[in-house]
Amino acid sequence: MSSKTKYIFVTGGVTSSLGKGIISASLAKLLQARGLSVTIQKLDPYINVDPGTLNPYEHGECYVTDDGAETDLDLGHYERFLNVNTSQDNNVTTGKIYQSVINRERRGDYLGKTVQVIPHITNEIKDHIIQLGKDDSYDVVITEIGGTVGDIESLPFIESIRQLKWDLPGKVLFVHLTLIPYLSTSGELKTKPTQHSVKTLLEYGIQPDILVCRTEYHLDSDLRKKIALFCNVEQKCVIESIDAKTIYEVPLLMKEEKLDEVVCEKLSLLGKNHYELKKWEKFLNHLSEPERITEIALIGKYVELKDSYISIAESLIHAGAENKTRVNIHWIHSSEMEGENIKNQLSKMDGIIVAPGFGSRAVEGKISAVKFARENQVPFLGICLGMQCAVIEFARNVIGFKEAHSTEINSDTSYPVISMMEEQKELKNLGGTMRLGAYDCHVEKDSLLHKIYENDVISERHRHRYEFNNKYMKDFEENGVVFSGKNKANNLMETIEIPDHPWFIGVQYHPEYKSRVVNPHPLFISFIKAALTHQTNAVDSLSTVNP
Ligand code: GLN
Repeated sequence: MSSKTKYIFVTGGVTSSLGKGIISASLAKLLQARGLSVTIQKLDPYINVDPGTLNPYEHGECYVTDDGAETDLDLGHYERFLNVNTSQDNNVTTGKIYQSVINRERRGDYLGKTVQVIPHITNEIKDHIIQLGKDDSYDVVITEIGGTVGDIESLPFIESIRQLKWDLPGKVLFVHLTLIPYLSTSGELKTKPTQHSVKTLLEYGIQPDILVCRTEYHLDSDLRKKIALFCNVEQKCVIESIDAKTIYEVPLLMKEEKLDEVVCEKLSLLGKNHYELKKWEKFLNHLSEPERITEIALIGKYVELKDSYISIAESLIHAGAENKTRVNIHWIHSSEMEGENIKNQLSKMDGIIVAPGFGSRAVEGKISAVKFARENQVPFLGICLGMQCAVIEFARNVIGFKEAHSTEINSDTSYPVISMMEEQKELKNLGGTMRLGAYDCHVEKDSLLHKIYENDVISERHRHRYEFNNKYMKDFEENGVVFSGKNKANNLMETIEIPDHPWFIGVQYHPEYKSRVVNPHPLFISFIKAALTHQTNAVDSLSTVNP
C-alpha cells in the first residue's frame, strides 16, 4: 500500500444535507493552499451504478468528468474549489462495488469461496479508496461518505474505513460532521444529537478525531468543552461551522477555526505556514461588493430543485464576480412560457439561459423562450437541449420548417433538425451510453466563439444522445446561422451563433462543468458582460423615450 498518502474520511451524522461536500472541499482547499496535493472522492451508498439514470428531482444534477463519468454533484464542488479535474475513480457507489464483485464471481475469481459483504465487498471498497493514493500522486485523499451514519446502506462503507485505520496505521483520520440545533423556545444550542451520533459511530468501531459542528450561532468555549468531553475528542478538535452567506466563504471560516492546522498536526502533514488564497479572496471581495445587479432567466423543467442546475448557477456566480455584478437568477419553469407570460417574465431580463434536459415535457416553453430572446435581441445562451431548442426555433420561425423538431420528441417529424447520432441507434441500455466526457472542438476564426475563447481548439464536456442534423446545414447558413464550433473528427456541429444578434450562442456541450472559482468560464463571463450591456442599453433607450 502507498507509502506517502494520508487518508481523511468525512462522515455525517444527525441529518442529511449538512454540507459534507462543502466541508470536504473547503478542507481540501486549505490543504492545497498550503502546498499539499489533494484529491477528493465521494462514496455513495445507493445501488444505482452511477447517478446518470437518476431523475434530477431525486438527486440534483449529474456532474460529468473529462473522462466521461456521470457522477454526484459534489464532484462539481470539488473541481470548482480545487481547480483540478476528477475522474471515474472519484465517485464510487454501492452499485458499482457490487457490479464489480458480481462480475468477478461470475468469472470464477473467488475460487469457490462464499462471497460475502465482509471481506469481499469491504475489500472492493478499500481497493477503490486506495486506488486514488497509488503512485503517491497525492499527499492527501479526502473521502466523503454519502448518507448519514446509522443508515443501513452505508454500513459496508463505514466498516471499510474502520478497517483501513488498521491497514494504514498513522495515515487515517476521521472527521465527523454533525448538527448543533438551536432551540428557540429555550434559547439554547443542544449537543445531545451530536453525542448520539458519535455514539452510533463508536458502535461501529470508529472514534472520530475531529468534529465539525454545523450551527446557526457561535459555540462558546463551555459548549465546546462539553462536546469534547462527551464525544471523546480534544477541545481543539471541536470545529465550529457556522452558517455562511456563501459556500465560498467556508474555507476561510474553516481556516479561522484552524481545521487544517489540527488535520496537519494529527496526520504529521508538512503544510506550509502561509496560504496561497489571493485569487480566492479577490473573488470573495467581488462577490460581496458587487457594483451592479444582473437579472438572468434560467428556463428549465426541474427548477423546483435548484440543485438540478447547480453547475450553471455556480458558473453564473463566478462570471458575475468577474464582472463585478451580482447575478440574480430567476428560476422559471418552462411550462410557464406561454402567451402573455413570456413577455411579462422575460422582458425584465438582461439575459436568458435555456437549460439542458431530456424528454418532451414542457419543451415548447423552452422554444418560446428562445424565440423571445432572438426576436428581442436579449443575450441568449442555450446549453445542450437549450441549443437544440434554439435550432428548432430557428428552423420553424426563420427558415419556415413549421414542423421542425428533435427526433427525441417527435420521431415522425418531417424536419428532423436534431436527430440521434448513428452510433446511438444500436444501443439498448440507458446507463452510461450517451456521448459523454470531453471532446475537442474546433473554433471558427472570426466568430463570436473565437473572440470569447481566444483559441482555435477547445475541449468541453458532453452528455447527450442527439445532435444537429447536418442535412440541414445549408438552410441554416443561408438564413444567417454560423456553426462556429465543430467536432472535426466526427463532423458534428457543436455550437451555433447568430451574428445578427448582440449575443446568441447555443452549445451542444456543457460549459458549466468547467467553470472554477479561480478560473471562471469565458463563455459565462462573456454572456454576463453582454447581459450588462443589454441592461445599459435598455436604460438608455428608456431615458430617450422619457427625457
Ligand atoms: N436530451 C438531449 C439529448 O440527449 C439533450 C441532453 C442534455 O441537455 N444534456 O441529446
